Amino acid sequence: MRNMQATQLLSELSSPGRRAARLPPCDVPEVPLEQLLPAELVSSAPPPLPELSEPDIIRHFINLSTKNMSVDTHFYPLGSCTMKYNPKRNERLASLPGLVDLHPHQVPELSQGMLELLYSMQQMLGEIAGLPAVSLQPAAGAQGEFTALLTASAYFRSRGETRTRVLFPASAHGTNPASAALAGFECVQLKGGSDGFVDLAELKTQLDSRTAVFMVTNPNTLGMFEKDIAEVARLVHEVGGLVYIDGANMNAICGITRPGDFGGDMMHYNVHKTFTGPHGAGGPGSGPIAVRDFLGPFLPGPMIERHQTANEPPVYRLVNPPHSIGRVRSFFGNVGILVRGYCYLRTLGPAGVRAMSENAVLNANYLLACLKDVLPVPQGNRCMHEFVASAKELKESRGISAMDVAKRLLDHGFHAPTVYFPLVVAEALMIEPTETESKETLDAFVEALRTIVRDDPTHLHQAPHSTPVSRPDDVRAARQPILRWNPS
Ligand SMILES: *Cc1c(COP(=O)(O)O)cnc(C)c1O
Repeated sequence: MRNMQATQLLSELSSPGRRAARLPPCDVPEVPLEQLLPAELVSSAPPPLPELSEPDIIRHFINLSTKNMSVDTHFYPLGSCTMKYNPKRNERLASLPGLVDLHPHQVPELSQGMLELLYSMQQMLGEIAGLPAVSLQPAAGAQGEFTALLTASAYFRSRGETRTRVLFPASAHGTNPASAALAGFECVQLKGGSDGFVDLAELKTQLDSRTAVFMVTNPNTLGMFEKDIAEVARLVHEVGGLVYIDGANMNAICGITRPGDFGGDMMHYNVHKTFTGPHGAGGPGSGPIAVRDFLGPFLPGPMIERHQTANEPPVYRLVNPPHSIGRVRSFFGNVGILVRGYCYLRTLGPAGVRAMSENAVLNANYLLACLKDVLPVPQGNRCMHEFVASAKELKESRGISAMDVAKRLLDHGFHAPTVYFPLVVAEALMIEPTETESKETLDAFVEALRTIVRDDPTHLHQAPHSTPVSRPDDVRAARQPILRWNPS
């Protein structure tokens, strides 16, 4: 359904003969199209392209761009996605000519500066993870998972072990089983612990010599730190398996605890989430992985090594790990995002990175405390960097769904939270404020939700009311089926 405020299409703005540019008359003989193209590609009428002036076109696209919500324009509490403000300083630094203009095929001897930067990034990520061997190649969290699982596969193969299964809890992000399946493993989903934590008894019944990897997000997607993570890791290691930590929620724990310290053998980062690469709408990601020493020889190559001899400046070289699984991405991954992450980590320093996580957790707990009377939060009174509210009661009593609440938030000037994930909470609204929001913004968000839950249900079912397009998916679902033959 298109609302009154809808932007007109370029074809609707078109006016015959209007032009954005005028070309000088052709001063060479014209070649008929038929001589250049196969006959079936040539039509007698010119294609119906919109005819527009330059201001028409510029206004059209600039206006479209303002219809978008972004972290630069709106509060964006999209749970699990860590939509924190991306400092403009990173953008300035990442666009320095020496960095942007460097050709990726430049020989190492002439790109020592970039190699030093990437090497330092490897070191910092290894330190934050507590896992020393780092590959920067994966271009997103999901590719990091896939790469780490291939690395685990190669490791087990080198030991003559056949391990076929990857286990994960019911609250896992969908990319976990998808990566495991792509890497050739059988996926086993554990039945949910009713309290949202990994159920140790259930884990024990599934662990055996077929177990390759147990994948777990910590803090988990309910925003809770897995209280038994050390015991989980002990049990997995006891059967010879590896523990994979999905690091998408690192924003809660950086500088406070480390995956390598609580039993993880491998993890991925989402540099675009935790370390401020601008993301959303499929923008470039960066999903480096960090693994234990004994897995390092299997990582993708090349990696960057630092060599220093007395009285000489350090030299950075590219080396292939001896049993490398090979490349998973050209060059060093999405270097532009790695550079932004590097600037961010250098700007904050170790104490600042810890403060980042502490404030992310503080903001989430403040919001949880203010919100839990408005929308119930089934998993309790405290959280890490995010929490999951539920519209289940609201739906049962007044027919208002999580989707209705999320859509109406757009009218109040807030991006919606993540909805219907994790699957273990009915009518889930997963809310992650991040550390970059002020108390005033969080208070305004609570007030908006307070208004929405009292709103007229019919009005809510039709929200949003202020956007050019209201509910595209619902319109598609309501459309007549296109195939209508009689089945008998
Ligand atoms: C975002 C996310 C991923 C996937 O990361 P991408 O960079 O989007 O591929 C995996 N797990 C969790 C928990 C996430 O939030």
